[in-house]
This record gives sequence, structure tokens and C-alpha cells, in this order.
Amino acid sequence: MPELFIGGKWTTAAGGQVREIRCPADGTLVATVDEAGTEDASAAIEAARDAFDSGPWPGTPSAERGRLLLRVAELLERDKAAFARAESLDTGKRLVESEYDMDDIANCFRYFGNVTAAGGTDRVVHTGDPGVDSRVVHEPVGVCALITPWNYPLLQTSWKVAPALGAGNTFVLKPSELTPHTAIMLMRLLTEAGLPDGVANLVLGAGPTAGAPLTEDPRVDMVSFTGGLVTGRRIMAAAAPTVKKVALELGGKNPNIVFADADFESAVDYALTAVFLHSGQVCSAGARLLVQDELHDSFVDELVRRAKAIPMGGPFDEHARTGPLISAAHREKVEAYVAAGLAEGAVLRCGGTRPTDPELRDGFYYPPTVLDDCAPGMSVVRDESFGPVLTVERFRDEEEAVALANDTVYGLTGAVWSQDTGRGQRVASRLRAGTVWINDFHPYVPQAEWGGMKQSGFGRELGPAGLAEYQEAKHVWRNL
Ligand code: NAD
Repeated sequence: MPELFIGGKWTTAAGGQVREIRCPADGTLVATVDEAGTEDASAAIEAARDAFDSGPWPGTPSAERGRLLLRVAELLERDKAAFARAESLDTGKRLVESEYDMDDIANCFRYFGNVTAAGGTDRVVHTGDPGVDSRVVHEPVGVCALITPWNYPLLQTSWKVAPALGAGNTFVLKPSELTPHTAIMLMRLLTEAGLPDGVANLVLGAGPTAGAPLTEDPRVDMVSFTGGLVTGRRIMAAAAPTVKKVALELGGKNPNIVFADADFESAVDYALTAVFLHSGQVCSAGARLLVQDELHDSFVDELVRRAKAIPMGGPFDEHARTGPLISAAHREKVEAYVAAGLAEGAVLRCGGTRPTDPELRDGFYYPPTVLDDCAPGMSVVRDESFGPVLTVERFRDEEEAVALANDTVYGLTGAVWSQDTGRGQRVASRLRAGTVWINDFHPYVPQAEWGGMKQSGFGRELGPAGLAEYQEAKHVWRNL
């Protein structure tokens, strides 16, 4: 079945290339899909360019665009089970987590649908001159390249597709080559919802062949990218010669700060979810635990006791609480970080070796791992391992906690645990991160902006700024 979607038509890759998609939980073949090359990427850009320059979508009233997004939200809810299953097969993620993601995805479309339907982003400017009508109107940026990762395939896609469409853009979507299925399914729903041909285009394939052309091509106006730091740097450089608008959602190495006066039970519970959710393959994961000296021993003992008891299993194993990593190569990367940490003096408290259970043999499993006595310079503390690996550092006081927390090139999220409200607020205000939780970890809502500071990227997704990212402000001055 052809899987590239270009100019409203399903098509096969021009070069005839295909890629096997295998489930990370057991290596079974999910499907074989088309693998786009430069020629396909170029055709998709051309279709998006035509649809932007001469199609109806950019000029469609925002109320109508908003209604289409709301219709997509309904269709996603109708097809929730099929989408969640496809997402779990591609990622190895537990089905309940994929189902949960589906609710968030529908809510994202609903949020941007309502915001777009309400319109009202244009503004009259009061110049003080009665002979002038001055206003700022918001227009779409143009053709957007939307490039997404494998850890939350459709969720990250929805954060881009919904506002891009709401603002009136056309786009070429390039999902991760490892997890293409829900993007294919989304194209079908957009068509069913009535989106005109050429507005949404899909190319599947590897970054250098299917993705890179989108970042270099002069017919593309904007690149919105979610993925790793190294790829982000490459994309920024590739977009520079044509001065494209760029938005980057990159990695994180996020601190979870626990003060001695924290609510012990909740702090332990959330410290586990913070880092082990989706096997640590979460950009916002609380992978660096900072614990106040006097709490350290009891806290880490309890955390390790519970981490050892987390059952691993495939996406459809109802007893499993954590699943496999995405690929063999990714597991090797995580193992290398743990080995480096141990060589640098970290103490292994649990995990650290592949499971030997026969039923997990064919998947890329790696257990929840806790490394104690870590120090800021260690690579396992500094770099994003993107696996189920928690590093533990101690701190004496608030000053040292903030210094350790901010001692990273990243700035995506962070959390602080304390029953002292003043301290929670103080520390939150000093963390250089796009999202900070006080006595919580991981929640987000589509109404609030998401994004990074420092090398976690720039630009925002979700919230009003998430829509503004896909708009150009134009000042129109009329001499009356
Ligand atoms: P990645 O950077 O390897 O790939 C991301 C996407 O970029 C893929 O679609 C890939 O094919 C494409 N790509 C690779 N090279 C390219 C190139 N030269 N030109 C154009 N496209 C190219 O990242 P990944 O391994 O898929 O995802 C994991 C990373 O994503 C982690 O670092 C994680 O923190 C980050 N992430 C960030 C957020 C956030 O909100 N900040 C959310 C999810 C994931």
C-alpha cells in the first residue's frame, strides 16, 4: 500500500525503497513502509507550496479552519483504539500509555480548534492620528516542515499540525523513520475531515534523505523540529542559508529536587514516574535526582526498593509497568552511559544489566537503574541518556540545590519538592527551564506553553505562543 501522501494522493517512494518497521518489544514485523528520498521530499514541498500559493486554505476564514480541527478531534476519539494500538506496536509503549496520549492528542486539536474558531488575534493600533487606520493582522508563515521524533510520535505531531493548520499554513510532515504509522493514519483523518488537497503532505524515511531536504529547500518557510540536540544544531545550520523561521524542541536533563521537608510518600512515588515513565524515553524526564543530605539515605533506599519491583513487559502485558527501549542501538547507548558512570565513580543501586527472562529475550529491554553518589561532571549526569537511568546527587541547602539543578546546557523542565511554599516558589523562579513543577512531575495542559531554555531549544508549542509560532504579524497602515 502506498504510504507517502503528496498533493492529496497516496504514492510510493520514487526510488522504490522500503523500510521494515519492527515492534521493539519482541522484534515482530509490524509492516513494511515506503522510504522517501530527496525526489519525494521535493514533490511534497512542491505540493505544499502550490496549496499555499494558490489553494483555498490560507484564505479560509479562521472560524472554518477551527471547525475542521474540532472535527479532527472527534475523529481521533472515534478511532482512539486503532491509533493507540498502532502507536504501541511502533514504539513498544504500554497500551494504556498510548491510550492516555490519544486523549491528549484529541485535546490538543480541540484546544487549537477552539482558539482558531474564536479568531480575534488581529489588533487595532491606536496611533493618536484620526487620519490613520493602523492594525496588526496575523497571517500564516507559509510552507512548514514538521519533523518529529519516535518517543511520542503522534503527540509531538499534533502539537505542530494543529496550530500550523489553525494558522492557515500548509505543511510537509516527516515523522521518525522508526514510528510512521500514526502519521499515516492522521493523514487519512485530515482528508476525511475535509482538508483540501496539498495542505497536508507526508514523507516517511531517514533524517538525512527524507528530512534534510525539507530544512534546506528555499520553497519551505519554516522548520519546526522536535528531537535531539545534535540534530537540532544541524537543522538550524541547514536552515540558515535561506533564513527560515526555526522552532526547536530539543532534549533535557531535568533536575528533580527533593528537600528534607518534602512529603516523603509523594516525592518517592513521583521521583519514580518522573524518570521511569516510558522507560525514561521522555524529554521532560526527571533523570537527575537531587536530594538534601539528611533525607538522602532513607529516600534512596525506598526509591530503590520500589524501582526493583517495577515489572517489565510488552505493550499488551497488563501487568507490565515499563516497556522496552526503542531499538538495539538505543539500548547500547544507554548501557554505555551507565558503564561510563560506574567507571567515573557512581554506585549502582539497582538495574544496570539486561533482563534474562525468556519472554523479554527478543525485545530491547533495560531495567530501571539507579546510580547513587553521582557528581556534576560525569557524562551520565551531563548528557541525555534517554533511558531508564536515574542519577542521584546530594545537596546541603537551597543555594547548592539551585546551582546543581542549573548546572546543565539544557533547560526543559525541573521540579522542586518541599512543604515550605515560599521555598517551592523561590526555587521554581530560579530554575532556568521552560516548565517547572512544585510538588508534582509531568503534568501539562494544551492551554500552557511548552518549550525549552538554553540548549533545550527555542520557540514554544501549545498555548497562545504555540499558535503564534505559525503566524507572521503584519502591520497594515491605511491613510484615511
Ligand atoms: P532525532 O534528533 O534523532 O530525530 C528526530 C527527527 O529528526 C526524526 O524524524 C529524524 O529522522 C529527523 N532527522 C534526523 N536527522 C535529520 C536531518 N539531518 N535533517 C532533518 N531531519 C533529521 O531524535 P529522536 O531520537 O527521534 O528523538 C529523541 C529526542 O527527541 C530526545 O533528545 C528528546 O529529548 C527529544 N524530544 C524533545 C521533546 C521536547 O518537547 N523538547 C519532545 C520529545 C522528544
